[in-house]
Amino acid sequence: MSARPLFHAPCPACGAPVELASSASSFAVCGYCHSHLSRDGDALQATGHKSEVLEDYSPLQLGAGGRWHQRSFTLVGRIQMRYDGGYWNEWHVLFDDASFGWLSDASGQFAMLQRLPATQPLPTYASLAPGVPVPVEGLAAVVADKREARCVAAQGELPFPVDERWTAQVADLRARGRFFTLDYSDAEPVLYQGHPVLLEQLQMQLLRDEQTINESAGRLKGKLQALACPHCGGTVKAVAGTTPVATCASCGSTLDVQGRTAQLIAEGHQARARLQGVFLEAGDVGVLKGVSWTVLGVIAQSARSDGETYRWTDYLLFNAKHGLRWLSQPGDDADDDAWLFVESLDEWPARPDPRRAELRGHSFQLKDRYDSRVERVWGSFNWTVRVGDTTACEEFAVRRGTPGMPQGSVLTCETTSHEQVWSLGVPLSHAAVAAAFGKKTAAARQRRPLDGNAGRVESLDNAMTLSLFGHGFLWVTHPSMFGLLLGLATLGVLWVVKTAMKG
Ligand SMILES: [Zn+2]
Ligand SMILES: [Zn+2]
Repeated sequence: MSARPLFHAPCPACGAPVELASSASSFAVCGYCHSHLSRDGDALQATGHKSEVLEDYSPLQLGAGGRWHQRSFTLVGRIQMRYDGGYWNEWHVLFDDASFGWLSDASGQFAMLQRLPATQPLPTYASLAPGVPVPVEGLAAVVADKREARCVAAQGELPFPVDERWTAQVADLRARGRFFTLDYSDAEPVLYQGHPVLLEQLQMQLLRDEQTINESAGRLKGKLQALACPHCGGTVKAVAGTTPVATCASCGSTLDVQGRTAQLIAEGHQARARLQGVFLEAGDVGVLKGVSWTVLGVIAQSARSDGETYRWTDYLLFNAKHGLRWLSQPGDDADDDAWLFVESLDEWPARPDPRRAELRGHSFQLKDRYDSRVERVWGSFNWTVRVGDTTACEEFAVRRGTPGMPQGSVLTCETTSHEQVWSLGVPLSHAAVAAAFGKKTAAARQRRPLDGNAGRVESLDNAMTLSLFGHGFLWVTHPSMFGLLLGLATLGVLWVVKTAMKG
């Protein structure tokens, strides 16, 4: 399975053996001293640059192999690309027919792509925008992602030279189950074609095991970690290997949580990020349909439609095996009090006309268009979320009585200046969410408006009276430790006064 070296020579910087498996590789990184080496015929030359890849939680490694479209392949090189909200790996894949490709590895989402000559003219970078339809190779593709990224490190052998100053303008496009990447780094755009893939589909061998991954990354993958906010000292919870960015609940600072300690990206001036009455908190764990989910982050959102402001709350969920999902909690004024359990789609719906979307043979009708706005945010996320971020949303409702798709299911298309994402939400009752996360349903009735007009409690369900030995009573509107301590302190004061008066 592993590729036999075609070429070997000592590293001109340290003398360690360097082997290249592909005749197409004109560049390599020494595995010992990390020097960048360019290959000219049979000679290797050090470029003077060095780079080391960030040891992350990817199960992939150089030398791992698999099968794709009846061909064996080996991973022979890797570049790490960083952008504003995170980073991803591109693995250089060598096939047994000597052709090569790229396995894109973005926090657990994979796509196998090969560079193929375009048979039709490609669009310019400037003409692309998320959600814009672009014909690619005779298919109606849609721009899913458009961004500028910087190559921060390389490993193994590559078909072109890289260094840290290298930036790439890239766009990903989707056409149902197909995946395209357009790379605008050179004068002429380059087309890569392929499919989103699961590692199981690729029958991968020689993957890194869990212990090696955890040892190299320094923390346990998938485990919830409590890190200290470097700005205010508050506790920030993040899941190792899943979320590069977190927002401190206390001060609203944006933090990089990929390392052993949290690093400040941007200072926050959010006086109090936490919202009273939010039903779930980062770190809460609940079991839905037999799968255990941990809440990673909370986003309070709003939208204006027909002169009215609507508010709701989205929770990012994580499971080590199943990845990320969302739970969407309706606002107090919503017509429907059902929550939605939401999954991003790798297979995009077809849009036979602007008011209709079709997914897996089910038809959905456009029911709403609005711009959502992030009002408050805290916890950790797989991209950088900022207060004030807006997203153009289109919601499609499933037709009544569609077999195989629950009534109330919603398809949502969300578009920002960088990307477009499709997701499917399936309704879930408030009681089911409460039961899954072990919460009291009464808390829902105490949700308060976002403007912080707290204090009014609609029911006294939870009110507790503490009678203090005939000296009066204290209403404690929440059966919390605070109320209990306040009651005990008052009791103590009254006891001292009473004793003093008797004296
Ligand atoms: Zn070397
Ligand atoms: Zn903080």
